[in-house]
Amino acid sequence: MKFMNFAGALAVSLIAMTAAHADGMVGISMPTKSSARWIDDGNNMVKQFQDAGYETDLQYAEDDIPNQLSQIENMVTKGVDVLVIAAIDGTTLSNALANAAASGVRIVAYDRLIRDSGDVDYYATFDNFKVGVQQATSLVDGLKERFGDGPYNVELFGGSPDDNNAYFFYNGAMSVLQPLIDDGTIVVQSGQMGMDKVGTLRWDPATAQARMDNILSASYTDKDVHGVLSPYDGLSIGILSSLKGIGYGSGDMTLPVVTGQDAEIQSVKSILADEQYSTIFKDTRELARVTVNMVDAMLDGGEPEVNDTETYDNGVKVIPSYLLEPLPVDKSNVEEVLIGSGYYTADQID
Ligand code: BGC
Repeated sequence: MKFMNFAGALAVSLIAMTAAHADGMVGISMPTKSSARWIDDGNNMVKQFQDAGYETDLQYAEDDIPNQLSQIENMVTKGVDVLVIAAIDGTTLSNALANAAASGVRIVAYDRLIRDSGDVDYYATFDNFKVGVQQATSLVDGLKERFGDGPYNVELFGGSPDDNNAYFFYNGAMSVLQPLIDDGTIVVQSGQMGMDKVGTLRWDPATAQARMDNILSASYTDKDVHGVLSPYDGLSIGILSSLKGIGYGSGDMTLPVVTGQDAEIQSVKSILADEQYSTIFKDTRELARVTVNMVDAMLDGGEPEVNDTETYDNGVKVIPSYLLEPLPVDKSNVEEVLIGSGYYTADQID
């Protein structure tokens, strides 16, 4: 070092920093491949972590809790430095994470909060309450556009009760809808409200479709449904099948306004075909970027950037979080938002 100039010294220290990351190994545990968004999340993270010099181990648990637990345990045995986890059931990982933390593994909750564990270091996600607000706002806009002034008959669907996000989506949506229910602008003919009644275990499209079938035959034999709050594109596709199955969308039966989330290709095509009304775009490339930055900072002994230290109490502690902005998408801005940002090519959604 004695004979080295400043630039030389800087180069040596930059090499040292990169070398530190080159030995880092990141275990990425994703819930399922049954929904395209998680495939995108996994691929984006592998690419961005590898570009930053990390080794990665990406596993999908196919919505099976024991499977996710054993995949996480294997990652710890393999010697990962960090676990990035999108949990299937946010409450089942406490023991596995305690063991991981005892071996010095750092833990990032990805998209979904991990509950009941003091070992979660950080949380990277979108503003989940805002997602619900945006879904309900779009629902109300669509109702006005398609059906004029109310009152409107609307049915409500929630996400999986074991996913913390589902409550944020529902509560966000109800912050917009409840006042309209109270003043009679919106009527829930089935009377089914509250996450205990409207939740959809494991976000399963077939479960949503069956529930919509039941609601239609029990509450809509002599009236029309005008809107359905759906928190996820997969559920929206199931709900739309149910509606189309009894004639909505043909003859004089106008298709209800159906919301969604994730901008999955099948739903984007459905929006362009005037079936699903809207979705919420959450750019998984950005979520991967935030996560890589968090991991970089932690492994460098620094403080990851966060922008929320109040909202996400997991039952043991408030997890410092970085919340990204979700974006509502309907037919009017599909191209600008999804193609303009390079998320999809025009061919993919043709
Ligand atoms: C995610 C949503 C997704 C849902 C179903 C939630 O935890 O935040 O983006 O639609 O899971 O996969």
